[in-house]
Amino acid sequence: MSDPEVNEVYAVRFAHHAARTRAENFLGGDPHDAPMPFDYFVFVVRGPSGTVVVDTGFDAKVAAKRGRQHLRCPTEGLRCLGIAPDAVDDVVLTHLHYDHCGNQHLFPRARFHLQAAEMAYATGPCMCHAVLRGGYDPDDIAATVRKLFEGGLTYHDGDGALRPGITVHRVGGHTDGQQVVRVWTRQGWLVLASDATHFFENFERNLPFPWVYHVGATLDGFRRLRSLASAETLVIPGHDPEIMARFPTVKGAEGIAVRLD
Ligand SMILES: [Zn+2]
Repeated sequence: MSDPEVNEVYAVRFAHHAARTRAENFLGGDPHDAPMPFDYFVFVVRGPSGTVVVDTGFDAKVAAKRGRQHLRCPTEGLRCLGIAPDAVDDVVLTHLHYDHCGNQHLFPRARFHLQAAEMAYATGPCMCHAVLRGGYDPDDIAATVRKLFEGGLTYHDGDGALRPGITVHRVGGHTDGQQVVRVWTRQGWLVLASDATHFFENFERNLPFPWVYHVGATLDGFRRLRSLASAETLVIPGHDPEIMARFPTVKGAEGIAVRLD
């Protein structure tokens, strides 16, 4: 590919889960019995060749079923950034867990990008185990299979490229086909880690989140995040409320969107 294009990157917050403790967020637990809530995000990469949305979130119905606080439709957050979901060209699904790949019908024009290993995992023998299938919703899997048969899904195998300056990389670990997105920005290479690290702290302390397919691959994934990003501060976790505090708010989207680069 040609020289990387400089992109802007945003996090858009759409849901929250307050009733979590530190012990629930680290493999092996945590001695401090303190609250450690979860935020839910979709991410936006905006550059000279258009807009890429990373993950599609979930709707209010799914939130009610899972006991999550739904703040807004993720597409409402996108509209705050001036992005019409039906004009988005590309959507990366980092993996197929329910909180990352709902709402697919709201992006009718988009080409979707997924690791082939993720579909194999989410429809394969591991799903015979309740503990491994718990994060998946069969309706999302069906929607993704439908997308495949409509010709709207591109499978990636390991490392793949969407644009000059936007690449995807399978790290596995959390799920077998978990992928991260690497973006060239004015700060250098930024990595949208998604659930390769749920919180800054998982990655900083080399302590995986407990919902894990392969612990070794998760730990190798932390190392991979470091090697893909230009600086550790440019690794963005998938669920950390600290994202909203650490990065500047987008004017007109207070409490909804922050700029990551
Ligand atoms: Zn997640």
